[in-house]
Amino acid sequence: MPWFRANFHCHSTNSDGDAGPEETARIYRSFGMDVVTLSDHNTLTHPDEYRAALGSDAIALPCSEYTGPKCAHVLGVDVDDAVAPSREQADVDVIGILRDGVDRVRAAGGVAVLCHPCWNWTWDHDALMALPDVTHFEVFNAAPDCNSYPTFGRSAPEVIWDRVLSTGRLVYGVATDDAHYYHAHGRDGKPPRKLSPPGLGYCVIDAPELSRRAVRDAFEAGRFYASTGVELADYRVGPDAIHVRVAPWSHERATIEFIGIDGTLLARHDGLSADYRFTGVERYVRARITDTTGGYAFTQPVML
Ligand SMILES: [Zn+2]
Ligand SMILES: [Zn+2]
Repeated sequence: MPWFRANFHCHSTNSDGDAGPEETARIYRSFGMDVVTLSDHNTLTHPDEYRAALGSDAIALPCSEYTGPKCAHVLGVDVDDAVAPSREQADVDVIGILRDGVDRVRAAGGVAVLCHPCWNWTWDHDALMALPDVTHFEVFNAAPDCNSYPTFGRSAPEVIWDRVLSTGRLVYGVATDDAHYYHAHGRDGKPPRKLSPPGLGYCVIDAPELSRRAVRDAFEAGRFYASTGVELADYRVGPDAIHVRVAPWSHERATIEFIGIDGTLLARHDGLSADYRFTGVERYVRARITDTTGGYAFTQPVML
C-alpha cells in the first residue's frame, strides 16, 4: 500500500497568508506533499486556482477553515463550498461555535477537524466530549502560538487526546502546519523569534491510490498517522499486536512509546522498530515515535 503525504491546513493571500495560491502550492509540492490543499479562512480557494502548479504527480483537495470568534476554528477537509459563520456569535460559547463549525463542514460535504485546541488555550477535553460526533482534531499544529510541543513527556493536545480516548471514545489525531508565512519576515518589521514555516506538520495517508476519493476515504476512516518529520517504513495492527518500524532519514535514532489509558506509558523501546503485544487491559494503544532530529509521529489509537 503506498503512503501519501498531505497537509490539510495552510493559508494563502486569499485570506491572511503572504503568498498567492499558486506560489503556496508550489512550495508545498517542493516539500514533497502529494496532496496539496489551501484552507483559507471562511472562503474556499478552489483547486483550479493552484492545480497547475502541482504537476501531474500530486493532487489538490478543496479545504476551508471555519473561523469563528474566540479562536474557535474548524477545518473542513474535502468540502464543496466555503465554511464560515453566518452571523455574529459574540453571545455563543466556544462549544456552540465549534458545533456550528462542524455542522457547516458536514453541510458542505467535508470531514470536520477541530483546530488548534491550545491556541490561547481555547478548548479542552470537555469541549471534545460535548461534541460526541467529532472524529478528528489537531493533535499537532506547528504554529508556535498553538502550543503543540511537549514539555514534560506529552504535549497539551496529547493530554486532551488521552483523556477523551480513556472514556472509550475514538478520536483521530491530525498534524498540520497551518502555515501563513512563506517569506522570512517577522512581526512589526523585526526578525521572527519563532519560526512557522510550511512542512512542519502533516498526515501520512494509507490510501490505495492518489485520488481525491481514496485520500478522503482513508482520512475519514483514520488510515493515516500524524507526523512532524518522522516517517514509518512499516505499521501493522494485528489481532494481538502492533508493529512499528521507522524509516530513518539519515542516521538518526528513535524512541517508540506505546501509550494507553490515562496516558499511561505501556512500553518504551529505543530503536527503529518495536512490537507491542496487547494484554487486554489497555483500553486503547497508540504509538508515539520521537527521533533525534526533534521530529514526532503519532499513530492512530487502536481501541481494545
Ligand atoms: Zn485557525
Ligand atoms: Zn489556519
